[in-house]
Amino acid sequence: MENTKSLRNWLSAMELSHPLVIAGPCSAETEEQVLKIAHQLKQTDATVLRAGIWKPRTRPGNFEGVGALGLKWLQKAKQETGLITATEVANANHVDLALKHDVDILWVGARTTVSPFIVQEIADALKGTDKIVLVKNPVNPDLALWLGAVERFYASDVKKLGVIHRGFSTYEKTRYRNNPEWQIPIDLQNKFPDLPLILDPSHIAGRRDIIFELCQTALDLNYDGLMVETHYDPDNAWSDAAQQITPATLDKMTVDLRIRKQEGDAVEFNNKLATLRTQIDVIDRQLIDSLGNRMRIADKIGLLKKKNNVAILQTKRWNEILGKMILEGEENNLSEEFILKIYKAIHQESINHQKKVINE
Ligand code: PEP
Ligand code: MN
Repeated sequence: MENTKSLRNWLSAMELSHPLVIAGPCSAETEEQVLKIAHQLKQTDATVLRAGIWKPRTRPGNFEGVGALGLKWLQKAKQETGLITATEVANANHVDLALKHDVDILWVGARTTVSPFIVQEIADALKGTDKIVLVKNPVNPDLALWLGAVERFYASDVKKLGVIHRGFSTYEKTRYRNNPEWQIPIDLQNKFPDLPLILDPSHIAGRRDIIFELCQTALDLNYDGLMVETHYDPDNAWSDAAQQITPATLDKMTVDLRIRKQEGDAVEFNNKLATLRTQIDVIDRQLIDSLGNRMRIADKIGLLKKKNNVAILQTKRWNEILGKMILEGEENNLSEEFILKIYKAIHQESINHQKKVINE
């Protein structure tokens, strides 16, 4: 990767010529595994070695991490490679152990950010620290909860703060393991423009084939860094096997990623424009997804009408929808003319879908 925008505070102090790359296995498994991955990452753009020592599993029975023993392996990896280290902490005891073993970056996991009590416990344990603290978004799409966690660390006088976007869980299965909901980190970025924002494409994707495109979107949105799960033998990783990539793949990926430079007026204009355009692209994709979902429900209604021998067109219901949407439109500064046009088109597509289902 080449030169990038001027990075901020603790990140600018690192004097990197490209976005920050944090890489390493989901979990530290053995000393050999940690050291081997660290040495391979040394040949890439990675500055930070990540490894989970305590693994919060949603369901019991999965690999829950090697525990404090693994902190020694991280220490050794740092000595041998010069990479700085990062791990997840989920309570005050983890913080204590991580600090005793010179871990450089502590991150708060998605299942921890949801709990103000635990976040406060960790913030108290880290009071005044000069370690870097990265706060992952909570598992549920709730900006206030994420902001609240950041504010607890600010209040604890933690100065080197950043956030990690790792996507949000949904009940419905989508193409992602965790939906990106780009609008949420964009809102957070607008609220705290100085807070470095890092993408964790691995936990969003849950699979390796879409990691690159996620990273590209993040860089187009001006993210400051990437945290990518990396293993020399991804398929045999003890946790999150499907989403890990090799250090060699990471290396190729960082070469292929486009990064926008931020220098000079014209460049700055182009950067801002490109960021706004990427925001539009994100919303357009959501619009199409929503329309697709709407039509799938229309299909179900079509099937129900077929079984009960009911006519497709229900004028009363249609007029109700239109009336409601014109009012909603007004609240969002959208003209009645526009809402009418859009809803006529949506309604027609719904009827086409239902006709198809009924005639099948
Ligand atoms: C992880 O980074 O390995 C992890 C457990 O992430 P999250 O908290 O985002 O699920
Ligand atoms: Mn993981």
